Amino acid sequence: MALQAQAAEHINPYHVALAQYDRAVNYLDLPQGIKDFLRLPKRELHVTFPVRMDNGDITMYTGYRVHHNTVLGPSKGGIRYATRVDIDEVRALAMWMTWKCALVNLPYGGAKGGVVCDPYTLSQAELERLTRRYASEISLFISPHGDIPAPDMGTNAQTMAWIMDTYSMTVGYSTPAIVTGKPINIGGSEGRTEATGRGVVICMDEALRRAGHNDPSQVRVAIQGFGNVGSYAAKIAHELGYTVIAISDVTGGYHNDKGLDINDVLAYTATSPHNQLQGYPRADTITNAELLALDCDVLAPCALENQITEDNAADVKAFLIVEGANGPTTPEADDILFGNGVEIIPDILANAGGVTVSYFEWVQGLQSFFWDVEEVNRQLRRVLIKAYDEVVRTQQQINVDMRTAAQITAIRRVGEAAHTRGIYP
Ligand code: NAD
Repeated sequence: MALQAQAAEHINPYHVALAQYDRAVNYLDLPQGIKDFLRLPKRELHVTFPVRMDNGDITMYTGYRVHHNTVLGPSKGGIRYATRVDIDEVRALAMWMTWKCALVNLPYGGAKGGVVCDPYTLSQAELERLTRRYASEISLFISPHGDIPAPDMGTNAQTMAWIMDTYSMTVGYSTPAIVTGKPINIGGSEGRTEATGRGVVICMDEALRRAGHNDPSQVRVAIQGFGNVGSYAAKIAHELGYTVIAISDVTGGYHNDKGLDINDVLAYTATSPHNQLQGYPRADTITNAELLALDCDVLAPCALENQITEDNAADVKAFLIVEGANGPTTPEADDILFGNGVEIIPDILANAGGVTVSYFEWVQGLQSFFWDVEEVNRQLRRVLIKAYDEVVRTQQQINVDMRTAAQITAIRRVGEAAHTRGIYP
């Protein structure tokens, strides 16, 4: 299993994103030139910049911001802080953002950004200086009507607050709509922090209900990743009565076949170092590889890319996979899982709750008119279920797996918009 995990590190997420695109676009009757246009990133910014550390030293960092496509509107996408960030990962994530926004019918294109760093080894003051400098370096690329960042792995509402403040200081007036996923006291939206996890559970619940599983307590759920997406998915699933039997993070996994008390786990991580699961006492320990192959009904990968590959796909025992993470399953694994009758709710649908409530936050910020959490959650459900219905309709019309159906639906929407707009000049 260790060898498999290592091999997965060498799978290039951009190659995965392109392979998925090539598979889906084959079903579409679009001009070849439009297909070529949608396949490539529109523009890319690479930056290197110095940050003063707490001990006075200066360390150089590398960052990226990629705009994949802006046919449907300003580009939107998170910022990731991780040691494994590279240009191809950012390209893949930007491309998936284009399809995700199109699929849930948001007036956005796709973007992504990242800084190569380990946020868990930096102090708050170092993180603030790094974030402000990175924000300043990419200020060429971001604007409230051009490109709007949000949190992703290793970043959070505080990161967005620093970016908003840095941008606002530069332009000379407060600009809340420059980022989403902000703290509520500076223009964030109710319901945004938990929106991605909530969307994962809305999609899971919908798939189970359609398959006739009406008693949540009989459904055993395993969740990989206990950050923003995984922890809220676990919390909301637990609240709805699902039996969450396993969770994990970078420190390892925790398992209880009778179900974990997620409120107890959250109380533990609220005070643990970096809010991690390490040392959680009221469960058996398992590895991340074991979690993926666990005897369960639903598997929700909510951590990082390339977790389910051709090496371990055949070991998956869940009948439903709900992709909270972006790109957790490779195309080769897709084929194996499809052959084994495992249903996959793909990332661009399952984790679209985050960007959907980000869109609500942006709209609220531009109008300076804020909604209550009930309204946010009602609108979120409406948007996701509509997209879910559209994917199922495409799936039935063309007889493909759900990922391909979702990509076909999204690519068609962007392709037709490109055709309507025409090619400049
Ligand atoms: P996060 O940084 O809050 O949490 C990431 C989690 O993954 C942590 O629990 C971390 O310990 C765990 N992890 C890291 N490396 C791991 C490994 N090797 N094995 C197992 N666990 C590991 O990030 P997040 O915001 O929850 O994002 C998780 C995924 O969801 C990413 O793929 C991200 O792109 C995607 N996503 C996030 C959002 C959002 O709103 N935050 C929206 C859509 C998609």
